[in-house]
Amino acid sequence: MIPDSNSSVLKVGEIEYLGERYKLTQSMILHKQFAVSNGLDKVVVFSPNIRLERPERSSTGRHLFEFTQVDFEVAHARKEDIFRLVEDLIKEVWGWISRVCRDEFGLLNRRIRIPTSPLKVYTSHDLMERYGKDWEIKASLAEKHPFWVLCFRREFYDREDPARPGHFLNYDLIYPEGYGEALSGGERETDIDKIRKRLKEIGKEKEYQEYLDLVEGKLIPSAGGGFGVERMLRYLVGAKHIREVRLFPRVPGERIIL
Ligand code: AMP
Ligand code: MG
Repeated sequence: MIPDSNSSVLKVGEIEYLGERYKLTQSMILHKQFAVSNGLDKVVVFSPNIRLERPERSSTGRHLFEFTQVDFEVAHARKEDIFRLVEDLIKEVWGWISRVCRDEFGLLNRRIRIPTSPLKVYTSHDLMERYGKDWEIKASLAEKHPFWVLCFRREFYDREDPARPGHFLNYDLIYPEGYGEALSGGERETDIDKIRKRLKEIGKEKEYQEYLDLVEGKLIPSAGGGFGVERMLRYLVGAKHIREVRLFPRVPGERIIL
């Protein structure tokens, strides 16, 4: 099972194995939600993701068709808990890397800026008003530190704000300097009727029937997110294209030998 992650994917990869058809992993969102609903307090997975992105995506500098996502979920967390968790992780990991790799960063002529918490928070509506529909890179170019963006109408498992219908308790983290999206996540919907209604609206109720049967009456509140390892490395070292930070990169639209 996979969520309909987004429209930049040309098609979902599938394999046949022992007479069954399986979808290749695009995201472990449903697995994580299932795991925390079945007793795990916190989950983190370094998950290989295959997303058969459109060939035009090779020119963004941000897309591979095989990458590693750090996917995490925390039972009973709210979005603010996740913001603090990610900000602490950034400070700790980036601080460590900049100390250990001081010489390498010198060679690259790059200095990691360690941000202070809390990071700035915008809504997608603010940014759309200020920069237009393609706000991501423009907003990213205008900032010196990563920032949060709230409220996107997107996945069927995202929680709608009960106080403000039509608004969603989800978020992206965006890198500065034009590097764009770092992470996506959100608080999760637990009301199976709402999930079913949304799946119906997008014509996917049947595809997710087995999943719905599995989680019916079991979902608990949680929040989490996922970030691409290669995208983080690209930003840290200041690489122009994500290919530069992965050995044997798989870039959409390019012929792959190894
Ligand atoms: P998404 O579920 O699409 O928001 O993906 C979660 C995170 O994975 C993104 O915020 C990126 O950091 C990373 N990511 C998504 N798609 C790609 C891709 N095609 N190549 C590299 N990293 C990606
Ligand atoms: Mg995203």
